[in-house]
Amino acid sequence: MSDGLSRRGFLKIAAATAVTLGAESAVGPGLRRTAQAASQPAADVKAYAFVCGILKTQTQYLLKDTRVGSPFDIPVTFFVVRHGNDWVAFDTGNNAMVAKDPVGYWSKPVTDAYYPVMKDYEEFHIQLKKHLGIEPKDLKAAIISHGHLDHAGAIDNFKGTGVPIYFQKSELETIKKAVESGKKTAYIPEDFKVMKDLNIKAIDGVFDVFGDKTVVAFPTPGHTEGHQSLLVKRSGGKPLILAADAMYTVENMRDAIPPGLAWDIPRSLTALYVFKVMDYIDAEVVPSHDPDYWKTKPLAPQVYSM
Ligand SMILES: [Zn+2]
Repeated sequence: MSDGLSRRGFLKIAAATAVTLGAESAVGPGLRRTAQAASQPAADVKAYAFVCGILKTQTQYLLKDTRVGSPFDIPVTFFVVRHGNDWVAFDTGNNAMVAKDPVGYWSKPVTDAYYPVMKDYEEFHIQLKKHLGIEPKDLKAAIISHGHLDHAGAIDNFKGTGVPIYFQKSELETIKKAVESGKKTAYIPEDFKVMKDLNIKAIDGVFDVFGDKTVVAFPTPGHTEGHQSLLVKRSGGKPLILAADAMYTVENMRDAIPPGLAWDIPRSLTALYVFKVMDYIDAEVVPSHDPDYWKTKPLAPQVYSM
């Protein structure tokens, strides 16, 4: 067989993956396909930001080997995107138990590094109801950046709703191992007790949620193996890159400082380099935990703008 043929074989596989993802986007109720979207007027796309309390931590846990021992109070953030009449969540914040018994629920070693301060009313579903008038069952999908406690903590809010919840495939494998170990780390096994009552979907690559390239999940491995970020092409203003923990703070990107907690440091740097170039082409790269950045940003019910 010639090299040419084997290359064509590879391309065929790549195409098959894309088709699978296209089919995946049609699985969720109401998620539109490309052909349909092309013949319809473009959907209005807006983002809404939420803060689910803070973590009292130290600088080196976010910026590797930087200003070691300096106290750093960081927000826990998540987003909801409106696409026409459809809603999609990106992350969920902490589990409700974090407001009631932080040390018992996350464990002392975890809270020694990241002490959460969260109120009951900051739970995902309570904030959605209060600020947007919607419930988890009203969402078309949830995209979860990764399984860490402050991002996937409230996936139990989707129990019994049937709403598809999308993780990268390799993140689901990491979560499975973490649950089997029974150990509380940045993955809390109790957060995933409800997995069997959730409509979990695996993505392997890029996922164009509505088939019109406005809301697109893409892999940004490094912080965790299956980490993903979200492009939101808003109807007005710069496109947003919701980096999640692939970029904790703007300083991580600006000075190429890897995250304090990383599955693979070189890959976490590669993600930061890509974000830097996205910033050059005038995308707004949104850090998950940067207190200075978030100080000035409007929260729901206001539309996210900058
Ligand atoms: Zn994380």
